[in-house]
Amino acid sequence: MKTCFCPFCWQEIEESATRCAQCKADITQAQKRNFEEKLLNALGHKLPDTVEMAVWILGELQSGKAIPPLTALLKRTESYQLKCMILDALDKIGTDVAISAIRETFARETGLVRKKAGKLLEHTNTETNNGHGG
Ligand SMILES: [Zn+2]
Repeated sequence: MKTCFCPFCWQEIEESATRCAQCKADITQAQKRNFEEKLLNALGHKLPDTVEMAVWILGELQSGKAIPPLTALLKRTESYQLKCMILDALDKIGTDVAISAIRETFARETGLVRKKAGKLLEHTNTETNNGHGG
């Protein structure tokens, strides 16, 4: 099942929903698509909470479009917490490009961020080898 989010209050909603259960806003398919663009813009927001929320949701949406801006933000940010959230998001997106971004981070970073990236790569490798993870 694919997860969707309300473009107005960012609550998790059913993909088939046309109205948000939380804020009662009317949601069309077009608005759901625009939502991704909105989130990509939010990555440049000045409020850290908004950026973190956007990173998390883009990961949940497995947004391929988000990989380049997420990778850029990962290099730019000084925040350990944000770096970890971006790594988690890339891991959720899970495409080859996303995984190689995690690999680059592992090579570039030191300390806790490197450890975090290494852990994610470890479980990625395990899944690839088994064919199906448990
Ligand atoms: Zn809503």
